[in-house]
Amino acid sequence: MDLQFKKINSLLSEKRIKLHLFEPSNRKIWTVVGMDKEYWFDPDLDFCSCPGYYFNNECYHLDFFPLAKSKNQVEVTTFSDDEYESFIGGLLSEL
Ligand SMILES: [Zn+2]
Repeated sequence: MDLQFKKINSLLSEKRIKLHLFEPSNRKIWTVVGMDKEYWFDPDLDFCSCPGYYFNNECYHLDFFPLAKSKNQVEVTTFSDDEYESFIGGLLSEL
Protein backbone atom coordinates (compact mmCIF):
# COMPACT_ATOMS: atom_id res chain seq x y z
CA MET A 1 0.00 0.00 0.00
CA ASP A 2 1.60 3.31 -0.93
CA LEU A 3 1.67 6.32 1.34
CA GLN A 4 -0.92 8.37 -0.51
CA PHE A 5 -3.37 5.50 -0.48
CA LYS A 6 -2.76 4.94 3.23
CA LYS A 7 -3.45 8.59 3.98
CA ILE A 8 -6.70 8.55 2.07
CA ASN A 9 -7.76 5.25 3.53
CA SER A 10 -7.22 6.47 7.10
CA LEU A 11 -8.93 9.77 6.30
CA LEU A 12 -12.05 7.85 5.37
CA SER A 13 -12.01 4.77 7.58
CA GLU A 14 -11.13 6.67 10.75
CA LYS A 15 -13.71 9.33 10.03
CA ARG A 16 -11.20 12.09 10.41
CA ILE A 17 -13.43 14.52 8.57
CA LYS A 18 -15.75 16.11 11.09
CA LEU A 19 -18.88 18.10 10.62
CA HIS A 20 -19.84 20.40 13.46
CA LEU A 21 -23.47 21.22 12.99
CA PHE A 22 -24.99 24.14 14.84
CA GLU A 23 -28.70 24.14 15.53
CA PRO A 24 -31.19 25.54 14.95
CA SER A 25 -29.44 27.78 12.39
CA ASN A 26 -27.94 24.75 10.63
CA ARG A 27 -24.56 26.43 10.26
CA LYS A 28 -21.78 24.01 9.40
CA ILE A 29 -18.12 23.98 10.35
CA TRP A 30 -15.91 21.34 8.80
CA THR A 31 -12.63 20.16 10.26
CA VAL A 32 -10.22 17.38 9.46
CA VAL A 33 -7.83 15.76 11.89
CA GLY A 34 -4.36 15.76 10.38
CA MET A 35 -1.16 14.12 11.57
CA ASP A 36 -0.53 16.51 14.42
CA LYS A 37 -3.44 18.92 14.54
CA GLU A 38 -6.93 19.65 13.42
CA TYR A 39 -7.49 21.77 10.34
CA TRP A 40 -10.43 23.87 9.39
CA PHE A 41 -11.69 23.51 5.88
CA ASP A 42 -14.63 24.80 3.96
CA PRO A 43 -15.71 22.88 0.86
CA ASP A 44 -17.99 25.74 -0.23
CA LEU A 45 -15.10 28.21 -0.22
CA ASP A 46 -12.66 25.59 -1.47
CA PHE A 47 -10.40 26.47 1.44
CA CYS A 48 -8.33 24.43 3.89
CA SER A 49 -6.02 25.62 6.67
CA CYS A 50 -3.49 22.80 6.16
CA PRO A 51 0.07 23.46 4.94
CA GLY A 52 -0.55 21.71 1.61
CA TYR A 53 -3.26 24.18 0.76
CA TYR A 54 -1.27 27.10 2.10
CA PHE A 55 1.83 26.34 0.04
CA ASN A 56 0.40 24.66 -3.07
CA ASN A 57 -3.23 25.71 -3.05
CA GLU A 58 -4.29 22.09 -3.08
CA CYS A 59 -4.81 19.38 -0.50
CA TYR A 60 -6.17 15.91 -0.32
CA HIS A 61 -8.71 16.88 2.33
CA LEU A 62 -10.66 18.93 -0.18
CA ASP A 63 -9.98 16.42 -2.96
CA PHE A 64 -11.43 13.52 -1.02
CA PHE A 65 -14.16 15.35 0.78
CA PRO A 66 -16.84 14.45 -1.83
CA LEU A 67 -15.89 10.78 -1.57
CA ALA A 68 -16.02 10.82 2.23
CA LYS A 69 -19.37 12.53 2.11
CA SER A 70 -20.84 10.14 -0.43
CA LYS A 71 -19.64 7.16 1.61
CA ASN A 72 -20.99 8.74 4.76
CA GLN A 73 -17.59 8.53 6.41
CA VAL A 74 -17.92 11.80 8.22
CA GLU A 75 -18.22 12.25 11.95
CA VAL A 76 -21.13 14.54 12.76
CA THR A 77 -21.38 16.39 16.06
CA THR A 78 -24.31 18.63 16.85
CA PHE A 79 -23.93 21.83 18.85
CA SER A 80 -26.28 24.58 19.82
CA ASP A 81 -25.96 28.02 18.24
CA ASP A 82 -24.96 29.41 21.65
CA GLU A 83 -21.69 27.54 21.28
CA TYR A 84 -20.91 28.85 17.80
CA GLU A 85 -18.84 31.88 18.76
CA SER A 86 -16.69 30.14 21.33
CA PHE A 87 -16.20 27.27 18.91
CA ILE A 88 -14.98 29.63 16.18
CA GLY A 89 -12.80 31.42 18.71
CA GLY A 90 -11.19 28.15 19.79
CA LEU A 91 -10.71 27.05 16.20
CA LEU A 92 -9.07 30.31 15.12
CA SER A 93 -6.73 30.32 18.10
CA GLU A 94 -5.42 26.93 17.03
CA LEU A 95 -4.63 27.91 13.45
ZN1 LIG B 1 -6.11 20.31 3.68
